Amino acid sequence: MVGIVAVGGGQASFSFVQKLKALGHKGVITLVCSENCIPYQRPPLSKKFLLGDMKKEQLFLRPESYYQDNGINIVIGKQAVKLDINKRKIELEDGFKLTYKKLFLGTGSSPRKLPNKIINNAKNVYYVRNIKDIQAISKQFNSKRSLLIIGGGYIGLEMAAVARKLGLEVTIIEAQERILKRVSSEITASFFRNLHSKNGVRIRENVGVKDFIMERDHLKGVLTDKGENILADFFVVGIGIEPNVELAESAGLEIQNGIFVDDRCCTSNPNVFAAGDCANFPYQGERIRLESVGNAIEQSEVAANAILGNSAHYNALPWFWSDQFHVKLQIAGLNAGYTEVVERIDGERISHWYYRDGEFKSVDAINDPISYMVGKKLIERGQTPDPKNIRSVSFNVKSLLRG
Ligand code: NAP
Repeated sequence: MVGIVAVGGGQASFSFVQKLKALGHKGVITLVCSENCIPYQRPPLSKKFLLGDMKKEQLFLRPESYYQDNGINIVIGKQAVKLDINKRKIELEDGFKLTYKKLFLGTGSSPRKLPNKIINNAKNVYYVRNIKDIQAISKQFNSKRSLLIIGGGYIGLEMAAVARKLGLEVTIIEAQERILKRVSSEITASFFRNLHSKNGVRIRENVGVKDFIMERDHLKGVLTDKGENILADFFVVGIGIEPNVELAESAGLEIQNGIFVDDRCCTSNPNVFAAGDCANFPYQGERIRLESVGNAIEQSEVAANAILGNSAHYNALPWFWSDQFHVKLQIAGLNAGYTEVVERIDGERISHWYYRDGEFKSVDAINDPISYMVGKKLIERGQTPDPKNIRSVSFNVKSLLRG
């Protein structure tokens, strides 16, 4: 039976099929997952799941029965390898072909690899993306040894926080001049640098890898471009991700740092839609790709509406969070190109408010859910708070939402 096919077993495809059902779609829906597992949440992987505070089943977005109860055909453990947009056919790795009326690509992203294959295949080098990765890493974590993390983004910092909690010696090397360079400002990065230092993480910024020291099939350490040898028992690499565009690209769909989609999530072919980490979409006169759960959910819901012929346009309001040690960071909006940052310190609650040419753009809230909530609403409304008020602790930021 020909119906809607969703490729990818991550948050995007799950939210897409869930929204189709919520909108009352009665037609055939098939969900193809390449991992040998029903869709699950990834954020806890580098946090609670790694710490052992969450079981595998608790990661599942819905129990297996959800798919049966809702008449969703779910194909598990098979990768979609070929797409023919003219015949509207998708082929799975075992040769099985599915014909679709409309196709949704929620193919996600994969960890960027170090350029050296031998290192990538070393027995004690790990990447962080799926349940299997974490299961392998947690065995190393539990034997309490030394860890070198390559890359100081969220993956690196979250892994470091868990490793310290478990008593490991941890070093992070970051090639850029500071940690969180791609995703956050100097002032927020500085807060996290101090937090990690206080908790015993050694952070080396502006340090690249010049050479790898191997012993048989194990990595022993790295020689940095500053001439330092850093040895460790095992290594985690968190140097960014690449959108999974191979399937779309081989079918001739337009690619531009991700699968090119319009504000309805429609690709360069009217029968194919895409959303989540793999999709590049229009945002405030530019084109961006967002790597976040919030984006995967909201964009996929727009795709579901668009596929069913409802009017829907994606107007992204990016939001992110990260948990490290006792700190919760919540971010609303994008601070790209900010010209002023205003810091608000209210005891343990800290927030950084970003303005571009006088217009409020985003907020980083550190253990400060109220500033996050208020900032997010103000961005939604297109309202700019006076920096003087933001700085003043006696000013109640909630009052900005009145009226
Ligand atoms: P990331 O944010 O891109 O950070 C990786 C950092 O590693 C970059 O600054 C990168 O610099 C640097 N780097 C690259 N090659 C290096 C090398 N050879 N040696 C040392 N440093 C190197 O990516 P990530 O931390 O791997 O995270 C992957 C994705 O998962 C991101 O989208 C992230 O936002 C997401 N994630 C989100 C959360 C959250 O929201 N809480 C948690 C975990 C993961 P260049 O930019 O120069 O390459």
